[in-house]
Amino acid sequence: MSNIPPPVTPPRRILMGPGPSDISPRVLAALGAPTVGHLDPYFLRIMDETQTMLRQAFRTENKLTLAVSGTGSSGMEACVVNLIEPGDRMLVCINGVFGKRMADVAGRAQAEVTTIERPFGEVFTLHEIADAVKSAQPKVVGIVHAETSTGARQPLEEISQIIHDAGALLLVDCVTSLGGIPVEIDAWGIDAAYSGTQKCLSCPPGLAPVTFSPRALEIIQNRKSKIASWYLDMQMVSNYWSDQSRAYHHTAPINMNYALHESLRIVLEEGLEARHARHRANHLMLRAGLEALGVEFAVAEEHRLPMLNAVKIPEGVDDKGVRSQLLREFGIEIGGGLGPMAGKTWRIGLMGETSARRNVLLFLAALEACLKSQGADVTPGAGVAAANGV
Ligand SMILES: *Cc1c(COP(=O)(O)O)cnc(C)c1O
Repeated sequence: MSNIPPPVTPPRRILMGPGPSDISPRVLAALGAPTVGHLDPYFLRIMDETQTMLRQAFRTENKLTLAVSGTGSSGMEACVVNLIEPGDRMLVCINGVFGKRMADVAGRAQAEVTTIERPFGEVFTLHEIADAVKSAQPKVVGIVHAETSTGARQPLEEISQIIHDAGALLLVDCVTSLGGIPVEIDAWGIDAAYSGTQKCLSCPPGLAPVTFSPRALEIIQNRKSKIASWYLDMQMVSNYWSDQSRAYHHTAPINMNYALHESLRIVLEEGLEARHARHRANHLMLRAGLEALGVEFAVAEEHRLPMLNAVKIPEGVDDKGVRSQLLREFGIEIGGGLGPMAGKTWRIGLMGETSARRNVLLFLAALEACLKSQGADVTPGAGVAAANGV
């Protein structure tokens, strides 16, 4: 008996990092509901309802919209391997870690990859994308909507036109944007997109919502070669999700799908517009408080993400010292910087459930205490007062 470890008793945290975000008790309760078989009529109904709610969240009519088994990165792989055949040209726009990852995935899928790059924290102009499309002549253009590694928001409204005019497909990473800022799959002409559950949908990590336009679906159905991944083969996976065949492919993670179902219900109950407005309001409160504490943003104002606030670590302040004090004394997790931003920035997440006024105020009070421990000169109460004034 003595060598059996104790049961799982995780600490209660406030998850203000780059994901996962805080999970609603309603979603945790759904995870603990009785497991049924993957072809049980009850579960088939849950799948249908989940597809309908995902279409609403993605703002699309796309028939091929479902939750891939796996985290956000599995959604990325699913989109790439289904659209790309060996030797196909793919253009990937890299301005952070996740664009880089997409180029890596495309290379492994044997695409002929061209990349364009912007420094971390910046975004691509329409002009840059148009030039790259013209010279690379790609079949697929991949781009990240909300770069969680940098806190920058890529404008997407106008790029599909130039990509479609060149005969290419637009693939978008919506992992962090979905449920936090507008994602308009149909209105913006996005051909394929993937998301994740643990960012602004506030569900535990484990599923990747994906959606494919009719044109993308046609390309998948008319491939000459087999899809490189058996597990992520959308021809087979979609047969299981379609109301006609329900052919067994792999056992769906039943309880994770319950959780996603409940988190989508919460998203739609609140309403997409109200949810986006909440994310924006709490971001503005945080911004006012941080400015009063002398903490600056790392991204230009017009490109900032409301759910992922990348800020510069003040001079003379120890990155890890502050993050571990936040966790130890206040139970607050924030993220450090990635790539060239490592050691220079913090990433403060206000995603989904976490995006709440009280979390902003608590964080500002906690950060003030940590900055004081570091010997920084901060006016007592300034952050909270400024945030309350918004
Ligand atoms: C988190 C994230 C991913 C990867 O998702 P995982 O769930 O960690 O696999 C991909 N793209 C972006 C923009 C992300 O924020």
